[in-house]
Amino acid sequence: MSVRVRYAPSPTGSPHVGNIRTALYNHLFAKRFGGVNILRFEDTDRSRHRPETEVDLIESLRFVGVEWQEGMEVGGPHAPYRQSERKEAGIYQTFIDRLVESGAAYWAFDTPDELDEMRLFQQVNKLPTGYFGGDWREASAAKVEEARAAGRPGVLRLRIPRGEKIVFEDAIRGRLEFEGDTVDDPVLIKADGMPTYHFAAMVDDHLMGITNIFRGEEWISSAPKHVVLWRALGVEPPVLVHLPVIKGRDGSKLSKRHGDTSCLDFRKAGYLGDALANFIALIGWAPGGDREVMSMEEMAEAFDLKGIQPSSGIFDLDKLNWMQGARLRALPVAEVRERFVEYAGREETASYWQAKSEEDPTAAGRLADILLLREAAQSDPDHAEAMIALEQERVGSLADFGPACRFFLEDPTEYEEKALKKWQGRPEVLDLLVRLAAALEGRESATDADCEALIRGLASDLGHEKLGPVVHPVRLALTGKSVGPGLWELMAVLGPAAMRRRLAAAVEAFA
Ligand code: GLU
Repeated sequence: MSVRVRYAPSPTGSPHVGNIRTALYNHLFAKRFGGVNILRFEDTDRSRHRPETEVDLIESLRFVGVEWQEGMEVGGPHAPYRQSERKEAGIYQTFIDRLVESGAAYWAFDTPDELDEMRLFQQVNKLPTGYFGGDWREASAAKVEEARAAGRPGVLRLRIPRGEKIVFEDAIRGRLEFEGDTVDDPVLIKADGMPTYHFAAMVDDHLMGITNIFRGEEWISSAPKHVVLWRALGVEPPVLVHLPVIKGRDGSKLSKRHGDTSCLDFRKAGYLGDALANFIALIGWAPGGDREVMSMEEMAEAFDLKGIQPSSGIFDLDKLNWMQGARLRALPVAEVRERFVEYAGREETASYWQAKSEEDPTAAGRLADILLLREAAQSDPDHAEAMIALEQERVGSLADFGPACRFFLEDPTEYEEKALKKWQGRPEVLDLLVRLAAALEGRESATDADCEALIRGLASDLGHEKLGPVVHPVRLALTGKSVGPGLWELMAVLGPAAMRRRLAAAVEAFA
């Protein structure tokens, strides 16, 4: 049987890291086995539905490189793929009829007050909470008919077998057993006629021929209900793969407290979709060997249920930054420039850093730096590539190129305090800066090798055995900083005119 999987989000919010991991595993599993991945929107809970997040969902999937061959936007043999439309199309009706006819489900007409009372009674008496039958599980056909004739709103509930165990397999956890007496009778169809997740998702999984369900472990407690439902419908259950939760480094469930967790926030912060995909896929999945930095193709080749860890995965931002750095370094510089320009030009980038700057004053400066480099990258791509190439080794994200490259584009207005103290008021340093400026006089350009020769020449003219007493003050004078890319390389990128200007300013500042 060929593999068919689905990512079936409810558009209730922008997808976060956990959702995206589920989406990635569906993608990788389908790729690995030459199967089909389906994107289905589960929007039957109208009170929580936020239609605008459908766009976020699609954008997030495209950003990390998840592909689907059937479903939203692409269509397919099981269209429509939005559950509210499937309901309208009457797709679920025959299943409702079958369940009612066989007695596997029953109509219940409890009022909200009655349900509240039931819950209170259960809580006070320390009983499992939920609907375990009430007045309706065993109600006669006549009583049901009477309620219906009186126009009382009713819901369809699944009849969970009592006094027996519900047993099934989970691909990660193995055999699981639930006492039927502890599983409440879930609503399948709400009073407004809308199917619930339990019903619509499982019927759709059946209709769409889903072979494996990847979903978060928060659904484990619902799995016995789904197993009962599939059995009632006489269908073969798909393989269940419940994925452990993702935790922060402090061991608590990943949440907003841990910083950005929504997929699109990472895009706004300057992460590369492929690095993010690599990082998220490896939270709780071990590809074997000590492989870590992997392309989507490599991950798809290695993807295997056996590698999924049963314990919760840890979201380690340092690891993401490291992976992202590795990926940035591996890209050709022209591509980095292109990706940077695209990033810097997105409206969301500006609004992200603007919003950040309300808590963090450095964020506003970062945005200005990003825009400055964007302008340079558009007006003089070669020059910008030269800067980017030098910083590519050092930055962690696309957004970091802004602050990292700023010194190329703007003459320093201040100098690192500690370093300045060291070199300030020393005649031999001023002499050095003046000599370097003189040596650059009349030059239009200088290569790395020219700059190296200049610095070495000055060191020997000034009787220094080592380069340090020349390199350090020159770096400070030219960049305002004590660390950065190699001096000759950065000098070549700055060019003689900028260097002369900066040296003249430094002679004043260092005096
Ligand atoms: N619609 C459910 C959710 O968004 C999907 C759960 C599942 O994959 O079965 O969480």
